[in-house]
Amino acid sequence: MSSQETYQKMLAHAQETATFGSMGAVLGWDQQVMMPPKGIQHRANQFAALSGFLHDRATSPQVGEWLAELSESDLAKDPHSVEGANIREWKRSYDRATKLPKELVVEFARVTSLADHDWQQARAESNYALFKPSLQKILSLVREVADYIGYEGERYNALLDEYEPGMTAKEVEQLFAPLRERTPALVQKIVNSPKQPDTSILHRHFPREAQERFVKMVVEMLGFDFEAGRLDPTTHPFASRIAPGDTRITTRYYEDFFNPAFFGSVHEVGHGLYEMGLLEEHFGTPMGESVSLGIHESQSRMWENFVARSRSFWEFFLPKAQDHFDALKGVSLDDFVFAANEVCPSTIRVEADEITYNLHIMLRFELELAMLRGDLEVDDLPDAWNEKFAHYMGFAPPNDAEGVLQDVHWSSGLIGYFPTYSLGNLYAAQLFEAARRDLGDLDEQFRRGEFKPLLGWLRENIHQHGSRYTPKELAERITGKPVSAEPLLNYFERKFLPLYSAG
Ligand code: ZN
Repeated sequence: MSSQETYQKMLAHAQETATFGSMGAVLGWDQQVMMPPKGIQHRANQFAALSGFLHDRATSPQVGEWLAELSESDLAKDPHSVEGANIREWKRSYDRATKLPKELVVEFARVTSLADHDWQQARAESNYALFKPSLQKILSLVREVADYIGYEGERYNALLDEYEPGMTAKEVEQLFAPLRERTPALVQKIVNSPKQPDTSILHRHFPREAQERFVKMVVEMLGFDFEAGRLDPTTHPFASRIAPGDTRITTRYYEDFFNPAFFGSVHEVGHGLYEMGLLEEHFGTPMGESVSLGIHESQSRMWENFVARSRSFWEFFLPKAQDHFDALKGVSLDDFVFAANEVCPSTIRVEADEITYNLHIMLRFELELAMLRGDLEVDDLPDAWNEKFAHYMGFAPPNDAEGVLQDVHWSSGLIGYFPTYSLGNLYAAQLFEAARRDLGDLDEQFRRGEFKPLLGWLRENIHQHGSRYTPKELAERITGKPVSAEPLLNYFERKFLPLYSAG
């Protein structure tokens, strides 16, 4: 059989696997948006059956033989050709999936599902002791996972590589170092400024129906295609692509707070536009898949913060918002933009502003890394959390529920995941800088309600490439330089110091 024939077999197999996988995506969306609570037991059975089936397809020895042959073939020579990129990424996933013994995978699923229960209780009672034994087990399991998968340098790299291919703990430490140095001083200048925003503007009455209409109008103008996607209410917002032509995003509405539905929707639209921009012809292959969590988050953060929190964006949209909401009538552009860009250190990551958000991430990354490196015991985690938090934010969290217990990630076994949130911010700033370089005055375009040039630029430079390049290669290729914290820090200083007259 020629390697071209083998490639076609592998391609057909992968496309069929992806078609089955997309059924799981429908079930997942349904579970979070539509399913009645009593459906949960059967849904769990459906997921178990499907994931077992998908795992068997992904790890079949036949796939291993095809990939062994293809990796040695001429098709794999250029890692950035369609075939080369697909073979490289298929091999990467196959190796990860087959290196873990089945018992370890089953044990991981068992421990994390119990841990989720323990964590929920621990958080409800703000009692870390209830979660500690689970966390201990999870840490020992992820160490095992890392050892089976293998790594260069240190264990953490094997975990991080799952979410941000090619990135190492050392690189993340170096990337975050300037943020760690410069952010706290910047935050101090801002909180000490006598000029502060009136955020009560955003806490007036915003009828749900008006929010739904306004959000739909805005996200449509940003490029979200309602013929190829949906926007629905849910408790924990997410974006999910079922298949080409079907991308679902979700949001939540509070009548006494403008931000969650509006900025949350724009965030998810950023994810959704990325998914909509993946090429249909590559569906079911790595070339048709997003490249990393960090790049994914760069898309959501760019639309949410760099676009939808800019003054020029609201020059266009504030009059329209005032048509929708009586609560905003008479509010000036300056006051609205200032309120939407409030910076205020707070305990909860998901409610954090643009600047302090990264401090929340660095804290978690540093603690994860210390635990993986054996420098921090699970017993000492809450104290270490509180100490670091006070160092970064200037005050300690009032309890563990608002501290070490606030996030779901560790109980789900997601270790090595947090850094991708801040990497997303770094990529967003650097990519946005490059978009400005290529597209001219973006503010002038936003002021006129034109978002197509930016979306077109993202489609051409990022979306259409799927996983052709590694995230680092992609960013460097577009921006002409390796990813760094400099563009984000410059953006912070240029945007927030004038707002707060804190220059
Ligand atoms: Zn996101």
